[in-house]
Amino acid sequence: MHVEEESPYRLRIERREGMRVPGIVFASRALIPEPAQDKSLTQVAAVATLPGIVGASYAMPDVHWGYGFPIGGVAATDVAEGGVVSPGGVGFDISCGVRLLAADVDRARIAPVIDTLMDRLDESTPRGLGRGAVWHVRDPEKELRAVLRDGAGYLVDRGYGVQRDLDRCEDRGGVADAAPEHVSSRAIERGRDQLGSLGSGNHFLEVQAVDEIYDESAAAAFGLRMGQVCVMIHCGSRGLGHQVCTDHVRTMEKAMRRYGIQVPDRQLACVPVESPEGEAYMGAMAAAANYGRANRHLLGNAVRHAFESVVGAGVDLVYDISHNLAKLENHEVDGSRRSLCVHRKGATRALPPGHAELPDDLDPVGQPVLIPGTMGTSSYVLAGVPGGDAFFSTCHGAGRAQSRHQAARGTSGRLLRDQLQDRGIRVRGASWRGLAEETPTAYKDVSEVVAASEGAGLCRTVARLVPLGVVKG
Ligand code: 5GP
Ligand code: MN
Ligand code: MN
Repeated sequence: MHVEEESPYRLRIERREGMRVPGIVFASRALIPEPAQDKSLTQVAAVATLPGIVGASYAMPDVHWGYGFPIGGVAATDVAEGGVVSPGGVGFDISCGVRLLAADVDRARIAPVIDTLMDRLDESTPRGLGRGAVWHVRDPEKELRAVLRDGAGYLVDRGYGVQRDLDRCEDRGGVADAAPEHVSSRAIERGRDQLGSLGSGNHFLEVQAVDEIYDESAAAAFGLRMGQVCVMIHCGSRGLGHQVCTDHVRTMEKAMRRYGIQVPDRQLACVPVESPEGEAYMGAMAAAANYGRANRHLLGNAVRHAFESVVGAGVDLVYDISHNLAKLENHEVDGSRRSLCVHRKGATRALPPGHAELPDDLDPVGQPVLIPGTMGTSSYVLAGVPGGDAFFSTCHGAGRAQSRHQAARGTSGRLLRDQLQDRGIRVRGASWRGLAEETPTAYKDVSEVVAASEGAGLCRTVARLVPLGVVKG
C-alpha cells in the first residue's frame, strides 16, 4: 500500500477504489506495525469506504490490527447523509476505558505499607473470567436495568461513591440515551454477576506515582502533584458489552443488504444510524457504556476503602474516560455544523479548553486523557488541545506490537514477575499465562506514542506516572 509522509507524524493513504475519504495515520513510520503480521493500514483504507464517512479514516499512533476497524481507529459518519454506525468501530469491550484516582498521599509515605496495600487491593478486586464482583444486591436484574439506564449516577444515589465521581466522569457518569430494552436477556444474564470486576489480561488496577510534570497548571487543575500516589483502573463492560456487540453484529449482517450497503470486510457490518437497527444498537451500546462506567466506579470505590483502611488517606477521581465508543457529536465539516456518529475504537476523546461538555473547573485546561503504558513502564496523563484533529481524539495506550501468543512465547509469567519485583514493582496476577501475554515488550514504546500524539497536534502532555504495583486481570 502506498503511504505518503505528509509531515513527521502524519501519513496519508490516498483515496483509491471504493474509498470515500483518504486515510490519515498520525504516526511516524517506525510506529506502524510490520505489514506482514498486521493489516491495520489495510483496515484504515477499508473503513474509508463506509457510507457517510466524513473527513478521513483516521488512525492514532498506537494503531494495530483489530476486529474490522483497527484498534486506534477513529471514523465519523454524517447522520443526515445516511451515515452508518458499525459495532466493529466500537469493539467488543464497549466503553472499555480508564479511571484515574489520586490519593492524598505521597509515595514516600506509603512505602512502609505498600505490600499490605497491594494485598488488600488483590483481595478486593474480583477478576479473571467470571469469578465474582464487588456488587451484591437483592434483585440483580431490576437493579442492573437501573444501572444500564443511569450508569454510575444510580450507584451514587444508592450510597456508593460521591458526587465528584460523577462530575469527573465522562457524561457525568451516564449516557442519557441508553435503551436497556435493546440489551438481550442473554447479555443481562452475563452481566448480572460481573458488576465491579476487572476481567482478564489487558485489564488492570495499578498503583502509580507521579514522576514528572510537564504542565504545572493543568496538573494542578486535574488534582495531580509531583510524587503523589495514584491508582489507574483499566476495564470495560465485561460479558454484557461483549454480548451486546455479538447480538447487534448478527442483526446488522442480515439487515445490511436491505439498505444496499456493501463493505469490503464482513467485520465492518453496519447500518444507517437512522434506521431501526442502528437506533437499537446505539441505545444498547449506550446502556453497555453505562455498565462500563458503573463497573469502574465500583472498583474505584473499593480502592477508596482500601486506601482509607490501610493508608488512612482519601482518594479523589481525576477523570474517567472510555476508549471504545461511538457517540453522536456536533462538529464543523466543510464549513457547516453537522451531527456526526464518531467512532473511537482504541482511541480517546480529547476535548479542548472551553468545550461546553467540560466541568467548570476543567474549562481553562481541557479534558484529561488517560494513557496506560504497560505494567513495567510509564503511563501518561494528557490534555485536549484547541483545534484537535480527528474530531478531538488521541491515542489510548502504547498499543500492541506483538500478539498475545507471540508475547507468551518470549517469556514466562514467573520470570516476568520476578523481573518486575526486582525493579520494585509489586505484581498480583490472576494467571501466569495472562501475565506473560502482557509482558511490556509486547507493546510499543508508550513515550514514543505520546510524543507522536503531541507532535501531531492531537493533545499535550501533562504528567508521567510510574508503576509501584499492579493487580493484573
Ligand atoms: P486495550 O484497551 O487496547 O486492551 O489496552 C490499552 C492499553 O493499556 C494498552 O495499549 C497498553 O498500553 C496498556 N496496558 C496494558 N496492560 C497494562 C498494565 O498492566 N499497566 C499499564 N500501566 N498499562 C497497561
Ligand atoms: Mn477492554
Ligand atoms: Mn481498553
